[in-house]
Amino acid sequence: MAAGGSYGAALTDLGERLVGDVITPGDADYDEARKIFNTMIDRRPAAIAQCETAPDVAHAIRFARDHVLPLAVRGGGHSVAGMSLVDGGLVIDLRRMDAVTVDPGARTATVGGGAIMSGLDRATQPYGLATTGGRVSTTGVGGFVLGGGAGFLDRAFGLACDNLLSVDLVTAQGDQLHVDEKEHPELFWALHGGGGNFGVATAFTLRLHPLTTMTAMLLLWRPEAGPAVARAYRDFFESAPGQVGGGLLYLTGPPEEFVPDDMVDTLVCAVLLTYTGHEERARAITAPLLRLGHDAEMITELPYADLQCMLDDPPGYRNYWSAEYLDSFPDQAVDRFCARASDMVVPSPSQHVLFPQGAAVTEGPSDYPLPWRGAAWIVHPFGLWDDPADDARVRQWAHDTRADVRPWSRGAVYLNFIGREGRDRVIEGFGAENYHRLAGVKALYDPDNVFRLNHNIEPRIE
Ligand code: FAD
Repeated sequence: MAAGGSYGAALTDLGERLVGDVITPGDADYDEARKIFNTMIDRRPAAIAQCETAPDVAHAIRFARDHVLPLAVRGGGHSVAGMSLVDGGLVIDLRRMDAVTVDPGARTATVGGGAIMSGLDRATQPYGLATTGGRVSTTGVGGFVLGGGAGFLDRAFGLACDNLLSVDLVTAQGDQLHVDEKEHPELFWALHGGGGNFGVATAFTLRLHPLTTMTAMLLLWRPEAGPAVARAYRDFFESAPGQVGGGLLYLTGPPEEFVPDDMVDTLVCAVLLTYTGHEERARAITAPLLRLGHDAEMITELPYADLQCMLDDPPGYRNYWSAEYLDSFPDQAVDRFCARASDMVVPSPSQHVLFPQGAAVTEGPSDYPLPWRGAAWIVHPFGLWDDPADDARVRQWAHDTRADVRPWSRGAVYLNFIGREGRDRVIEGFGAENYHRLAGVKALYDPDNVFRLNHNIEPRIE
């Protein structure tokens, strides 16, 4: 049956086959079910299959293929380009597959393909264990891990995918595979950064690390101090231990008690330092930055799971972001980066971000298709705003921020930090040689490119 044909009866049949449910445009919960994090994306799928089991996922994939429907896969719904939503197609919604099982002895967690970060963090915290998660608690584990996965713990424990031990995957043919280093090793390699190109992951097993206490230090300055702070921050991270993470961010001063009134709702320069241990040690290690003399501070010890949701970006906003990965961050780059912060929409939840990499990220396995892991710095204009009149301004700010620092980038970019920026950027994201190899894996497991609503790898059919 051709796309757009009549498949109403077949949808009823699909609904009966699934343990989960099928939602269509006439249903009361349709609009809620198609909401994603970026409110700019307003798409109307023909149906949303709320899957609960791997066989549900297999049925849904076969349904989409049989009816020539474009197929989107939804984990946490955080992709900035809205890759988990499709007009007139079928969405496989994994949110009900969110179970997390922790094996404290083996130090592993097995996580459903539709779980979000907070589910994982909350389940491992009672055991004093954690693994690298995203910097907010609402991101989907699925899209995050399959893309690589960077966060506050990556300098200590590596990228999320460096901790990936196995994946249960449903392929484009509807086959259910267990994928690890021994079974389907080439596919396992491809799942370390290749995103949702190779199938629907229904479960991930991740390595955990002992972690009981974190220290978070948020230091704020008036924006004029930014260039001096950024230089000191850069110098500090050139030799900082992997236990320290965080970011330098220009943001809107939050209406919190520790923030002076004149800094609320205006542009401020912030340094967030995270440390995998107690405050006393954190203060000693970060003394060069504490000695700079800031205008406001919030320093606290807290469980990792609490840190993860302390800085959650709010839902309900328009989103646009991009990124450049830099080998170095000389004074000229610092000055350009800091100057461009004033183009950001303020007040808004937007952030003009500089993240450090290095340590365990750089030292991790070099074979995976993640050529950006060797970069020392990430410049990440992260736009969240609510007035459509600001759309063009935000895009221009993100574009200009990238252009300003591009001279220090070798091009490799983490694809989870960008939207749709064209095929060349996708190839830059994997590296040309890796892309070639990934395209070979794609040809084996998804030769018809059923999974194409992603940073797409075209199958290499020879
Ligand atoms: P979705 O939009 O649901 O999916 C994104 C892509 O992944 C789609 O192509 C989808 O098909 C595929 N996918 C998702 N789940 C599966 C699955 N189970 N099987 C197969 N394919 C799947 N990234 C970081 O690395 N570090 C951060 O700190 C970070 N912070 C963020 C903060 C915010 C507020 C937001 C919005 C994003 C952040 N990201 C971060 C980016 C994030 O990792 C990516 O957007 C990621 O794709 C989100 O995954 P998701 O499952 O929520 O997204």
